[in-house]
Amino acid sequence: MTRIKTIKDIPLQGKQVFVRVDFNVPMDDDGQIVDDTRISAAIPTIRYLVSQRAKVILASHLGRPKGRSVPELSLRIVAANLAKKLGQPITFIEGCVGTIPFSAAEKMQEGSILLLENLRFHPEEEADDPEFSKELGRFAQVYVNDAFGTAHRAHASTHGIVNHVAEAVAGFLMESELNYLGEKTRNPERPFVAILGGAKVSDKIKVVSTLLKKADSILIGGAMAYTFLLSKGYEVGDSLWEPDQIDVASGAIETAMDQETELLLPLDHVVSRKVNFGKELVGNKILRGSIQKGWIGVDIGPETINSYKSRIQSARTILWNGPLGIFENKKFRNGTLAIAGLIASNTNATSIVGGGDSIKALKSSGYENEITHICTGGGAALEFLEGVELPGVRVLHRID
Ligand code: ADP
Ligand code: MG
Repeated sequence: MTRIKTIKDIPLQGKQVFVRVDFNVPMDDDGQIVDDTRISAAIPTIRYLVSQRAKVILASHLGRPKGRSVPELSLRIVAANLAKKLGQPITFIEGCVGTIPFSAAEKMQEGSILLLENLRFHPEEEADDPEFSKELGRFAQVYVNDAFGTAHRAHASTHGIVNHVAEAVAGFLMESELNYLGEKTRNPERPFVAILGGAKVSDKIKVVSTLLKKADSILIGGAMAYTFLLSKGYEVGDSLWEPDQIDVASGAIETAMDQETELLLPLDHVVSRKVNFGKELVGNKILRGSIQKGWIGVDIGPETINSYKSRIQSARTILWNGPLGIFENKKFRNGTLAIAGLIASNTNATSIVGGGDSIKALKSSGYENEITHICTGGGAALEFLEGVELPGVRVLHRID
């Protein structure tokens, strides 16, 4: 069987190595980094390249500058953050193609690091433009992709550049994302339990369908549950549901029965009269079964938590994507936190958590260090789990 080549498989000393990283960090209105998880996630690859005496050229996008130079979306601030983390100077270059970055790259010492300016200041990046790809490739003898979060996009720095380099390999972050979302869920240790929540069936139904083939149990929560419950004939009151997904939901229930995969829906619900984030609520109670008009399902109830508990406790592989309730409101986060706690305390299982909101919820629960793998890529992770071959992964070189 072949596998994707990684930085461990090739000589790096003295080589100009172009590393596509994902430094697309959230920023506040004052231009400060709100959460630098993505920067930390790239550190193992960068450290390794430095230790191998490579010349490390880092490139990323930040935000959506739409092909123009937007000073607020400069990667300069990331250079400072990264230098501090590594305890090593980073040379920031105001540009990513042309003579200035090129000659800076030519003058690099072994083991030194350059960070190029935001790739998306050029419209050619997202257009996967061949000329621009060639320009990026001029920097490098070796291309490393460590930006799993952008691997579902065929852009110049994730795709076109590969035509212009001798080696195209995965970094450690990319490698571990592919391992956990790929191998560990394709050939899982069983029982394999998937917990799926969040707002919309339409966002996640393809993942549900693929997981129906791989998992032993699927535990549903979040607003997604109401479309499933409606399709089984329950009332859901004023809860969020998707009229055009009812058939899809009942199709999934049928497939689950055919495949003998357990598909569990909430048995009881925390319901509220009005969902106003953070403010006082008008009424809040727990209901079993159907939800009457005028009430909104906002979280899974205690009986549901209890029934999901036994599955999570005996699982050997756990995949969680999507909060089980409106966790942004502290009165509705009990279900999500309870599930996070149960996953964290099953130390026999490989646990994988993905999704921007799920990770936010996990961090607020304080269980984040108990999880085997936290995915960095939202859209890319979903597509990968659906079985889509990601363009940024497909072009990487393979080894026997
Ligand atoms: P992730 O980012 O982890 O993939 P999603 O974006 O799919 O998750 O879903 C997260 C959103 O789902 C949250 O904003 C949360 O408030 C919402 N949500 C969860 N349960 C409910 C519910 N019962 N009613 C309405 N929204 C819900
Ligand atoms: Mg989300």
